[in-house]
Amino acid sequence: MADIRLEGVGHSYDGGKTWALKPTTWTWRGSRAYALLGPSGCGKTTLLNIISGLITPTVGRIFFDDREVTGVPTAGRNIAQVFQFPVLYEEMSVYDNLAFPLRNRKVPKQEIDQRVRQVSRLLGLDHVLRRRSRRLDAGRQQIVSLGRGLVRSQVAAVLLDEPLTVVDPAMKWTLRSKLKEIHRDTGHTLVYVTHDQTEALTFADEVVVLKDGAIVQAGEPAELFLSPAHEFVGHFIGSPGMNMLPAEIAGDVVRVGQADVGRTAGEVLPPGPVRIGVRPEFVRITAPGNSPGLAAQVTGIDRMGAYDLVHTLVGEHPVIVKTDAGSAYEPDAVEFLHFPADRTFLFRDEVRCGSL
Ligand code: ATP
Repeated sequence: MADIRLEGVGHSYDGGKTWALKPTTWTWRGSRAYALLGPSGCGKTTLLNIISGLITPTVGRIFFDDREVTGVPTAGRNIAQVFQFPVLYEEMSVYDNLAFPLRNRKVPKQEIDQRVRQVSRLLGLDHVLRRRSRRLDAGRQQIVSLGRGLVRSQVAAVLLDEPLTVVDPAMKWTLRSKLKEIHRDTGHTLVYVTHDQTEALTFADEVVVLKDGAIVQAGEPAELFLSPAHEFVGHFIGSPGMNMLPAEIAGDVVRVGQADVGRTAGEVLPPGPVRIGVRPEFVRITAPGNSPGLAAQVTGIDRMGAYDLVHTLVGEHPVIVKTDAGSAYEPDAVEFLHFPADRTFLFRDEVRCGSL
């Protein structure tokens, strides 16, 4: 399975006025499962189509291992791609649809049969193999389409563009774990595009977060959650996302309004405004007078069953605290918030510049 290397690869659809993908240098390492995560319009599909050869980038070069493929059409790249909507031969049976990519490459019949049965068993399609594809519902058709992308074991990479959009939510959990199983088995280099953080975090070895056509951070799910390098990663990952508050650095003290919330860790940072970020999971509600602490007014409580979300205001800035279920906080009460030192980060121009 190939390493896929981008060297300064960027794409503009309007002759360079705007960049759907800003020039990017990046390597997708062979045999790993990646999620490419970001909101609608951030350039995920553009990047995927550049890898597959459906788009020739405006600038830069792309390599599969040491072979340059920048101008090579899709057919010459040995890629399997699954699109957001099912692409099937509707009059063919499910079996024939799954077998098609293998027959096309003259794989021996017995091996085709073995592979089709293996993939269909894993994806729960074994009892519909003889059915015509058009007789399946949209969710099942999408699973067949996914199967077609996964059926070849010898590919440089498998590219999946939101492959579970019309599958019902309960089925998605099952399919993600099956997909992991298939990936463990084949060791494909896999790039999975999604705007859904749950999909990205449950599935990938590494998550690459894209914003406005640029990679802002890549890492294992826990790293993105515990150590966001960019405000956007703080917001976009986590449910709810990271709390952000304007703060001020004076010497090594970090202040929100008049209250000290802690000291900067490591090097002393230049004085001036910063934004302070802390996830709802790590904010603690403490007794008054416990220093450092921030007075916050409780505005409401969401009882989520497994946990509570306590909504507060620090001045005019909302801070959400995730607590155990059945908490006794009351709306309008004033509580004190503590931001733990190893879980609170400082940002300037959206980029992390330090921590408490
Ligand atoms: P989505 O999740 O909605 O598919 P995305 O993250 O995949 O979004 P892209 O589809 O790559 O994003 O689009 C990135 C930017 O490029 C968007 O601003 C989009 O409007 C623009 N764009 C995409 N395709 C074209 C095109 N064929 N012509 C002009 N602009 C395009």
